[in-house]
Amino acid sequence: MITIALSKGRIFEETLPLLAAAGIEPAEAPESTRKLIIGTNQPDVQLIIVRASDVPTYVQYGAADLGVAGKDVLLEHGGQGLYQPLDLEIAKCRLMVAVQNGFDYEGAVKQGARMRIATKYTEQAKEHFASKGMHVDLIKLYGSMELAPLVGLADAIVDLVSTGGTLKANNLVAVEHIREISSRLVVNQASLKLKHARIQPMLDAFAATVAARHA
Ligand code: ATP
Ligand code: MG
Repeated sequence: MITIALSKGRIFEETLPLLAAAGIEPAEAPESTRKLIIGTNQPDVQLIIVRASDVPTYVQYGAADLGVAGKDVLLEHGGQGLYQPLDLEIAKCRLMVAVQNGFDYEGAVKQGARMRIATKYTEQAKEHFASKGMHVDLIKLYGSMELAPLVGLADAIVDLVSTGGTLKANNLVAVEHIREISSRLVVNQASLKLKHARIQPMLDAFAATVAARHA
């Protein structure tokens, strides 16, 4: 059996064409079932539906052979035990620093002010501000980071931005770009060795599909 870990929503939707290229079609859509294990047209391939941030953990421990995870999630997880052969170039967004409109971020940085930063991405935020030589207080949140500056919980947030619509709707502006984010294929290292004959053609089909999009 080959088990593939995916999260509901954009990752599942954007992975579907890649699975199709490898001849894999899910029997059900995660939105229309409460099942967490979904069969496919291939008797030896199943999908498991997990939280986006849990994908690396399932693959790391071999509970899933493959998975699809955002670079943001992989950087927070650390990537131990994971082979990351391919950028799937899906679920693209940017990790950014944002503040409330009117907050003088540049000024605060120049003065060496100690800022409070709310984020779900504490590892990447820590690294970013350390590389700027800034001392910050990190406040860990699990969602709706946009709210934090509005109610005085933080001076700035580190969050993923795609269109900027959510920032705008909450009177926030992006002030710094940390990195481009996309989702990667992750593979359990033991699975790749032990199930190589079944897994390698899937990796090749995914890679060919990603490459064809550049043509
Ligand atoms: P959860 O919604 O379960 O709290 P999450 O927000 O990390 O977790 P998703 O919203 O499914 O999960 O996002 C999955 C991945 O898609 C993220 O890890 C990130 O790489 C990417 N992503 C997040 N937000 C966006 C966005 N607005 N546009 C494009 N890609 C995004
Ligand atoms: Mg989300």
